[in-house]
This record gives sequence, structure tokens and C-alpha cells, in this order.
Amino acid sequence: MTRRDGLSRTDLPVTLRDRAVVPGDSRYASLRSTYTTQSSPAVVLLPESEAEVAEALRFAGGTDFRLSIRSGGHGLSGRSSNDGGIVVDLSAMNAVDVVDPDTRLVRVQAGARWARVAAALEPHGLVISSGDHGNVGVGGLATAGGAGWLARSYGLTIDRIRAATVVLADGRIVRTDAEHEPELFWAVRGAGDAVGVVTEFEIEAVRLDTIGIAQIAIEADRGGATLRRWSEHLAEAPRELTTNGMLLANGPTFVLQLTAVVADGEPDRIRSLVEPVARLGVRTLALEAQLGPYSMLVPTAHLHPNLGQQVSTTTNALFPTLTDDSAGALMEVAAQPGSPLVQLRSLGGAVNDLDRSATAYSHRDQEVLAVLSTFPPAGIGQLSAAVRPLWPHAEGAYRNFESHPTDATFERAFPGAVGARVRALATRYDPTGLFARAR
Ligand SMILES: Cc1cc2nc3c(=O)[nH]c(=O)nc-3n(C[C@H](O)[C@H](O)[C@H](O)COP(=O)(O)OP(=O)(O)OC[C@H]3O[C@@H](n4cnc5c(N)ncnc54)[C@H](O)[C@@H]3O)c2cc1C
Repeated sequence: MTRRDGLSRTDLPVTLRDRAVVPGDSRYASLRSTYTTQSSPAVVLLPESEAEVAEALRFAGGTDFRLSIRSGGHGLSGRSSNDGGIVVDLSAMNAVDVVDPDTRLVRVQAGARWARVAAALEPHGLVISSGDHGNVGVGGLATAGGAGWLARSYGLTIDRIRAATVVLADGRIVRTDAEHEPELFWAVRGAGDAVGVVTEFEIEAVRLDTIGIAQIAIEADRGGATLRRWSEHLAEAPRELTTNGMLLANGPTFVLQLTAVVADGEPDRIRSLVEPVARLGVRTLALEAQLGPYSMLVPTAHLHPNLGQQVSTTTNALFPTLTDDSAGALMEVAAQPGSPLVQLRSLGGAVNDLDRSATAYSHRDQEVLAVLSTFPPAGIGQLSAAVRPLWPHAEGAYRNFESHPTDATFERAFPGAVGARVRALATRYDPTGLFARAR
């Protein structure tokens, strides 16, 4: 079948026809798009099992239609949908099961959203560190990294994956872990979309009933000393502390607005960790702390359909501990007229426990992730020009905060030999290039 013939429900294998949503169906409006991009695919397939994912991939492989793989639909590139092609949407495969409370092993299907994962684990006193938004899907985040609220305490989401089930391009269903298909397991944790559709992850959760969450606002100086101090402080701080924030320009004044998360429920410990952060700026503008479960950060209130409502352009850069020069470059970006939104996240801590070669996400020496976004009418040209001061100081990037993936962004995310290994494994596990059509 070719694109020229078009695609209708009757072209699909009989087993998939009941799983298909096509233009004109009542569910099409809520399934056609992603969070950032409005799209018009020919068909959205909603498999309910690995066998059905395999059937969908075999069907797509026999056509030349564009293919998209979707878990939660929050990918910034919008490539989890397309115009005129096939979308394999895993949202019906969304189970979250505690396999063993003693070993804290949790089985999570790729179509679950992180808000549902947090809610399902809360009664067991368990947590998996995910991203900062509950509507983000498990599949897209856990195949790339997962830089979240508890990153310094427990690492990236991928760091605690113990096994995964992958449907390969030829329809084979493979369970992989450190002993079985270890190269596939390496690729799944950082470059999963290059090798297959990951349908299920076994993740070692952590036991954590209560966390501290502080909202902190500090004035940041224009020269960058505040940012440098923040980064130096976090690089040495106890691992219970992770901070994520935004650098906001308020006229000539800059405000660093941080959410500080402490992986500890003891009020004195929380106070001792967040109060020094509030003193890192020119002056403290606000400090408010509260206790709560992890689900407060990724509540089910985040859940919503993705309708292409958040059109945006995003790139990012990773840094070791900020210096005067790199902090100054970040301030220069934030100070431009019509500057991008600058988000800053602390990494380091447990993220850097792993060896660089342990997973396809290889950035294990960096301390800071800067995420830069513009919104219409600004586009990629304006964003690229605005962030130019950062590149002389950056050491790599995280592939998931990239709205316009190119060879250059691939090289930043998978530098040198890591990229060569990802490409070789993509060829080994997907020799016909099916998933290259989906990226
Ligand atoms: C509001 C918002 C907040 C975010 N916060 C964070 C954050 O705190 N930390 C963080 O690390 N990231 C964050 N991200 C980025 C996020 O990791 C990516 O956008 C991720 O791809 C979203 O996962 P998804 O399943 O919703 O994506 P989708 O849009 O469904 O998929 C995106 C891409 O991932 C691949 N993919 C999806 N599912 C699978 C699968 N099962 N197997 C193989 N490949 C697959 C496909 O190539 C697909 O095109 C955020 C994004 C948004 C929009």
C-alpha cells in the first residue's frame, strides 16, 4: 500500500479495525493532535496488547505511510502525530502494577501518564521520579531520560529501569534487561525510540511517603553571580534537594523563581535545606514551604486531552557547575528583548552516579539543564539566534527538550561514540528504518 492510495479502515488488518480511529469518528478530535502540534493523521491505532502493537508495526512496515509512535502525546517535536499517516497510540496500555512491595518493583505500561503512576503508587508509599508534569506519558519520557523533581535524590527515570518489553520493527516481542539483549537495554534507556516500541517498563521505585516542597523567589543579579552561586550550592548540597526554576525578567530586575523539592518528610531537615537556597540571591523575595505526597507535584488535575494547544519552540543545553562565563551567558539570553523563557533545573547528585557508558543518555558530569522556549510568533530562527551565547559553554543536551530535532541536536544529545552506538543499534534492531520514519 502506498500513500497515493490513501488509507481507510477497511485497508487495515481485521484484528486492528476495532482499534482504529479515523477522520469522522467521534474520538478523532481528541486523538489526532499532540500537546504542541495540531495534526490530521489518516488513522490512529489504539492497540491493547503487545501482539496488537506488533500487528500495527507489521502493517505500517508494509506501507510507505508516515508512522508516529505515541504514549502521552507530550513530545515537543509533535512527531507523535502526523498528517496523512499512521499513529500507534499506546494510551490504552496504561496499567501500573506493584509487582513486589518488598523489592519495590513496579510494572508500568508506556501509555500511562505520570500523574496516574504517582496516584497508583501513593497508597503503597512508593514513588518513581518522573518529570514535572502529570500529563506527560511514560513511554516518551522513560525511553529518553526523565529529569524530574527528585533527580538529585534518585537519578533519572531511566536509571531505575530494571527491564523493558520492546516490540521490534519486525513484530518480535522482546523482554530486555541487563542480561538479556543488553545492547537493546542500553539503547532503551536514552534512545528507545530508535530501536523499537517499548510497551512496558519494570522500574525500581523508592519508598517515600512525604516530601518537602518550597516555593522560593530570589532576585538575581544581571552579571550572573546569583546563578553561579545557585549552581555551586546545588553541586555540593545533600542529595535530598533538587531545584527547578524559571529566570524571569521584571523590567531591569531578574527573579529566579525556584521550586525546591526535598526527598524527606522531616520539617527541620527541609528547613535546613531550603533556607540557604533562599539566601543565594541579591535578596529573598519569597519562601514558602509545605509537606505533601509526591503526587502534589504531578497531580491528576494535570491530565487533559492534547489538542495542539501549546505551540512552542524549545531547545536546551547541559552545563557542568556554572562559571562566571556560563552564568553570564544565561543572563545574556534572559536579558534580550523578547527573550526566550529560561528554565533551569539541577541535575548532578544521583544522576551522576552512573558511568557515562551505562545508558544511551550519557551526560553524567553535568549539573545544570537549561531549557529555552519561545512562543508564537517567534519560531526556531529567533530561538536559535537568542541562545547562541550558550553554546561555547554547553556540554551536550537532553534530547527530549528539543522541538526541532536535527543532526546537530542528535550530536549534542548523543556525542561522538555514543551516537555511533545508537545508530549501529538502530540498524541492528530496525534494519528497514521503520522507526526512522517516526522520528
Ligand atoms: C509540559 C511538559 C513538561 C515536561 N517536563 C519534563 C520533565 O520534567 N522532565 C523530562 O525529562 N521531560 C519533560 N518533558 C519532555 C518529555 O520528556 C517529552 O516530551 C516526552 O517525549 C513526552 O513523553 P510522551 O509519552 O508524552 O510523548 P509522546 O509525544 O507520546 O512521544 C514523543 C516521542 O517519544 C517516542 N516514544 C513515545 N512513546 C514511545 C514508546 N513507547 N516507545 C518508543 N518510543 C516512544 C516517539 O518518538 C515519540 O515521537 C516535558 C514536556 C512537556 C510538554
